[in-house]
Amino acid sequence: MTSVVDLRSDTVTRPTTAMRAHMANAVVGDDVFGEDPTARLLETRVAEMLGKEAALFVPSGTMANQIALQLHCRRGDEVIVGEGAHCAYYESGAGGALAGVQFAHIGRGGLFTKQEVQGAIRPIADWYPRTRLVAMENTHNRGGGKIFPYETLQDIAEFSKKNGLFLHLDGARLWNAVVATGRELSQWAQWFDSVSVCLSKGLGAPVGSLLVSDRERITEARRLRKMLGGGMRQVGLLAAAGLYAIDHHVKRLEIDHEHAMLLHAGLQAVNRECVGSAPETNIVMVDINNGTTAEVFASRAKEQGVLVSVFGPTRIRVVTHLDVTREQIDQAVRVLGKLVSE
Ligand SMILES: *Cc1c(COP(=O)(O)O)cnc(C)c1O
Repeated sequence: MTSVVDLRSDTVTRPTTAMRAHMANAVVGDDVFGEDPTARLLETRVAEMLGKEAALFVPSGTMANQIALQLHCRRGDEVIVGEGAHCAYYESGAGGALAGVQFAHIGRGGLFTKQEVQGAIRPIADWYPRTRLVAMENTHNRGGGKIFPYETLQDIAEFSKKNGLFLHLDGARLWNAVVATGRELSQWAQWFDSVSVCLSKGLGAPVGSLLVSDRERITEARRLRKMLGGGMRQVGLLAAAGLYAIDHHVKRLEIDHEHAMLLHAGLQAVNRECVGSAPETNIVMVDINNGTTAEVFASRAKEQGVLVSVFGPTRIRVVTHLDVTREQIDQAVRVLGKLVSE
């Protein structure tokens, strides 16, 4: 019996033994009273890494993004996003339901240009929504782990700021962009009024994201977090996992990227059309072009011990992470390779 290779998402990672030991020894207090020293430590540490004044530990990336929308926008405002942006696509309609915003989707595959932002800004009139925020995502999930080209990002940020727009970065996988490009977190973050980063994806912590911004906004964000039910008590147990992850699991993301390259190369070798250009980080999109559907493909793969995500009628997403070994990558290449070449 071979092991199951779970490539559905980098969220499936489980805390390692060493991480659990670190959690068990965490000093904790009531964080709603602001008295959890480990949560404070994590927040200070991540704020410093991003070159910002303050950070807030939240239960999920969704909550971090939603707090950001509420910080920057008023009801009826419009937010410019790339195609398939998490904050518009995967957050249960919270942008409309809770923040009261609507989205203008631009560009292709999550990436867009300054010209496209310019084209989406509404003129000032009583009958238009107010364009308030540009929300970028790096790396881009539905875009297949693509890194936002730095110069384009800078161009968009400078233009948006000049035009009175706020900027938010959904950096759930910003760590992957950092490792892949060698550009520091703070370099990416400097262009944004707020940034969210995730600890429970590639970094392998069980729970948590941070919203990072200036002191004033984070004070307000704490209040919004409580309003959303995200105030947590002895949360240092989870913050400790995050601190451990930052110390031990960032650099090793290189391994996940290498594994994604191996998967891509293995599939390309047997079916040149089923994968696009080489992966930039830890995500490979596979287009099923042999007449079957993604659903059928995924269930066949599952029968052979490889779990993948269905991302469209004929599209599969494969994600590498901390809990996948090189041997399991070889196993996945064998199973998926056979299925795409049938
Ligand atoms: C996973 C993810 C999030 C946050 O997801 P949660 O499950 O709410 O933690 C946000 N943005 C992107 C791009 C993601 O991939």
